[in-house]
Amino acid sequence: MTDNAPWQWDEATWRGHVEHVRAGRSLAPDAWPQGKRVAVAISFDSDHETPALRDAEVLPGKLAQGEYGARVGVPRILDLLRRHGVPATFFVPAVSALLHDGEVARYAVEGHEVALHGWIHERNTALDRDDERDLMLRAADVLERQAGTRPVGLRTPSWDFSAATLDLVRELGLTYDSSLMADDEPYELLSRGEPTGVVELPVEWIRDDAPYFMMERFGSLRPYTPPREVGRIWCDEFDAARAEGGLFQLTLHPHIIGHRSRMVVLAELLEYIAGTGDAWFATHADVVAHVRDAAGVTA
Ligand SMILES: [Zn+2]
Repeated sequence: MTDNAPWQWDEATWRGHVEHVRAGRSLAPDAWPQGKRVAVAISFDSDHETPALRDAEVLPGKLAQGEYGARVGVPRILDLLRRHGVPATFFVPAVSALLHDGEVARYAVEGHEVALHGWIHERNTALDRDDERDLMLRAADVLERQAGTRPVGLRTPSWDFSAATLDLVRELGLTYDSSLMADDEPYELLSRGEPTGVVELPVEWIRDDAPYFMMERFGSLRPYTPPREVGRIWCDEFDAARAEGGLFQLTLHPHIIGHRSRMVVLAELLEYIAGTGDAWFATHADVVAHVRDAAGVTA
């Protein structure tokens, strides 16, 4: 590595950056379980107050916006999932889990997956490796204690994947990450060119509620897409995944999607998907287990 400007880098330098963590072979399976055409993996990042706390925004107004997620959003979401018999994955920062006693246990009891989402929604790329490792281990302990099983997957907070993250995922023995965007379908992560056996379940801002609905009171950020239009985008994403026999993955947040006019859209989306009869609804861990089996991933 050099300290030169990027246009002065030699090939070993730019190639080294790209190959540090990269997409390996596709793990798109030939078939999904139960003879279904498309896998549907819905996830909720139960951030609640933690992004505000992470930024040391400790005044009541901002914290209340996050609190809404636990107080109103989560019960509404769990009711909807139960009505449709849909299992989901909840990525939960440890501080969120500790603030809202019983929430993680309820996810587990209702048959959902609980997975890692940092300690306090920290920005991994702002941390040194030892701090990132310490927070990840402590977070895994909290979730294991509350859910009754140790998490097998990680979504980095804010999809902020550091140069150390993949090594730590391997050290913790996790089977998957869900923070990167190199494909629509599951793939194996390479570390410095070598296969790791770690599955990436890719995300995208298109399939995330936050960019459509977030607003900043004193800035210029305002929601730019009406909820029903967001629903149309997600339907189109699902339809194309179904046509390709692939994966439809969605990332939602209880404090964002949990509002009345947006839950209408989520309910309609689930009804539409279920109505096709083609969907295998699964947790992220279930999808990962299936594609690992299908591809013979053993690491
Ligand atoms: Zn988050």
